[in-house]
Amino acid sequence: MSNLNRETVLSVHHWTDTLFSFTTTRDPGFRFQNGQFAMIGLEVEGRPLLRAYSLVSPNFEDKLEFLSIKVKDGPLTSRLQHLAVGDNIIVGRKATGTLLLDNLTPGRNLYLLGTGTGLAPFMSIVRDHESYEKFEKVILVHGCRKAGELAYADRILTEFPQDEFFGEHISRQLLYYPTVTREPFRNRGRIPELLESGKLAADIGIPQIDPRRDRVMLCGSPAFLASLRAFLEIIGMEEGSQSEAGQFVVEKAFVER
Ligand SMILES: Cc1cc2nc3c(=O)[nH]c(=O)nc-3n(C[C@H](O)[C@H](O)[C@H](O)COP(=O)(O)OP(=O)(O)OC[C@H]3O[C@@H](n4cnc5c(N)ncnc54)[C@H](O)[C@@H]3O)c2cc1C
Repeated sequence: MSNLNRETVLSVHHWTDTLFSFTTTRDPGFRFQNGQFAMIGLEVEGRPLLRAYSLVSPNFEDKLEFLSIKVKDGPLTSRLQHLAVGDNIIVGRKATGTLLLDNLTPGRNLYLLGTGTGLAPFMSIVRDHESYEKFEKVILVHGCRKAGELAYADRILTEFPQDEFFGEHISRQLLYYPTVTREPFRNRGRIPELLESGKLAADIGIPQIDPRRDRVMLCGSPAFLASLRAFLEIIGMEEGSQSEAGQFVVEKAFVER
């Protein structure tokens, strides 16, 4: 397992019966860019069982954090959900992914649009100084079915603005918009509809999305990505990649198997 590090679980938090997060030690040699994902998992019957996971923790922290779904009968997560402090997980030594600030052309506002565990990569991007140097406003939108699935909401609203390193940026430049589809909440509705109708922009007090000025990162279910990609292309935005920066970038939060 020369391409894998073994890390120790430091804490575990269960948000709901289908969602949990955990922190681990970090090998000092493990380097990544905010927004990337790595292969992580468990050793099962002497062999690594690995899945892609976005890094929730920013790259300056000395521990790693992950946000995980619990899939009933899922090969990895049916086991991973039982992690306890002191257990080991394995982490691939290479991180990768397209949700990088460098893959976007310059703009004024940065929209980070995620559903479910698609919030994970944005948790590191909202704690990156560069996000606030490159953009005037960073708009973090997290869509879930139920309010209990809005992981990290309290931390974003109360802890982040107080942080000694990035708190000032967050207080002045981060707009956080959690939205729920299946129960009463202060913001209701699916992200594609909130964006297309202009309700999201009206609620947070900024002009409607504009390809000349705004840049977008997407991370969510295949259906979410398909509908938003179509909308962004209709309004004239071009997708960016490692080889050429564009006006929006996309990462899958998971694949259907
Ligand atoms: C680039 C990338 C980044 C990812 N980042 C994360 C992450 O940060 N956190 C995370 O929990 N998962 C993430 N995933 C999904 C992850 O790789 C696994 O699929 C997930 O951990 C379930 O593993 P499993 O072996 O239990 O089930 P799998 O056999 O991998 O999946 C079984 C089924 O569960 C559903 N499913 C899987 N993952 C999710 C999910 N996250 N949300 C909703 N439904 C899901 C799908 O329908 C899938 O067909 C990511 C996937 C990709 C491609």
